[in-house]
Amino acid sequence: MRDTIRKFTREEIIPVAAKLDRSGERPTDIVKKLWQLGMLNMWIPEKYGGASLGNLDTSIIVEEVAYGCVGVTAGCLGTNLAQYPIIHSGNDEQKKKYLGRLVEEPLVAAYAVTEPGAGSDVAGIQTRAVKRGDEYVINGQKMWITNGGVANWYYVLARTDPDPRAKAGGAFTGFIVDADTPGVQPGKKEIMMGQRCSDTRSISFEDVVVPKENVLIGEGAGFKISMGAFDGTRPGVATMAVGLAQRALDEATKYALERTTMGVPIVKHQAVAFMLADMAIGIETARLVTQRSALQADQGESNTYYASIAKAYASDVANKAATDAVQIFGGCGYSNEYPVEKLMRDAKLLQIYEGTSQIQRIVISGELIRRFKSGGH
Ligand SMILES: Cc1cc2nc3c(=O)[nH]c(=O)nc-3n(C[C@H](O)[C@H](O)[C@H](O)COP(=O)(O)OP(=O)(O)OC[C@H]3O[C@@H](n4cnc5c(N)ncnc54)[C@H](O)[C@@H]3O)c2cc1C
Repeated sequence: MRDTIRKFTREEIIPVAAKLDRSGERPTDIVKKLWQLGMLNMWIPEKYGGASLGNLDTSIIVEEVAYGCVGVTAGCLGTNLAQYPIIHSGNDEQKKKYLGRLVEEPLVAAYAVTEPGAGSDVAGIQTRAVKRGDEYVINGQKMWITNGGVANWYYVLARTDPDPRAKAGGAFTGFIVDADTPGVQPGKKEIMMGQRCSDTRSISFEDVVVPKENVLIGEGAGFKISMGAFDGTRPGVATMAVGLAQRALDEATKYALERTTMGVPIVKHQAVAFMLADMAIGIETARLVTQRSALQADQGESNTYYASIAKAYASDVANKAATDAVQIFGGCGYSNEYPVEKLMRDAKLLQIYEGTSQIQRIVISGELIRRFKSGGH
């Protein structure tokens, strides 16, 4: 599958990535072909028609697409992030209905947790769901939702306990919401610095009626479900960072071998060669820690610590590699005639979504203190 996706990326994503970046257009055809290749439903269990792949498998595959364009990859991982709560916390009926749909047709889902007033502070979300007989009525606004305008259904986190003193662990509920439910209104597509072909929008929910059958696990379980999804998907974002960084290194190496100054290819200048070496150090170590975090998830262990280390580290590596690639390209690096300025813009977002680099460090320090106190490592 890695080889198939690698070939597809070289032939069908890389040639159009710059055009997609300029237009900001969502690559519907590419998404459809990636769906046909199984890339969009990798985690869905075979029982429900998916590929039943593990986290390590997907991390190897995702790196290939990210090498071509992380904007395209974001659309794929956006649907994976939304699937995660259903795969791990949904009942059989919910899985058959909502995962089955994604397998039967080239549809995507979206994970809708962030709001205009609360991103890092998930417990601060204001969207409310009120029980009315056998239904819930949702009101509120979500922000920065990947696939927001194209999803067939959303995973939505809403507050169900109105008591502001209620603990986050019991105050929120996770719902599956069909995108065509009356009252669901996506906003305009956001114009972004990078990853521009990824469809990112706000979504407003106005008296949206959802049957109680669409609650995951039960009332109050939503916060844990929503946060748990990141253990699965942070290795994916780290993988995107590794793929982008590898692309930056390859482009910079090629250019450094071709460009001549003072009578020699610039790669002969140690200052340039060492920048390439530093990129390689970052990429190899980021890939290893990313795959470690993915493997740990596959082995059924808690991977929170390594998933956050991988996400924080790999996204820093990607930003440094992309910036250094621009440096190695000199003036050409600053022009959109060459591929590296896009890498630099695309890389920035990797330090922001799925938990900012600061939030990863809160998670990592919390975990290491907990481990230290319990005598583990
Ligand atoms: C393109 C894009 C796609 C996205 N896709 C999705 C999606 O599909 N679904 C979804 O639910 N969300 C999505 N998000 C939201 C994303 O996860 C949030 O933007 C992110 O978590 C940061 O939240 P915020 O923007 O509210 O920033 P804030 O939380 O306001 O943070 C602002 C700054 O303060 C820092 N900060 C905040 N709290 C602390 C703290 N306690 N200690 C130290 N520093 C802190 C942050 O690190 C950051 O630098 C997306 C965002 C973007 C930009």
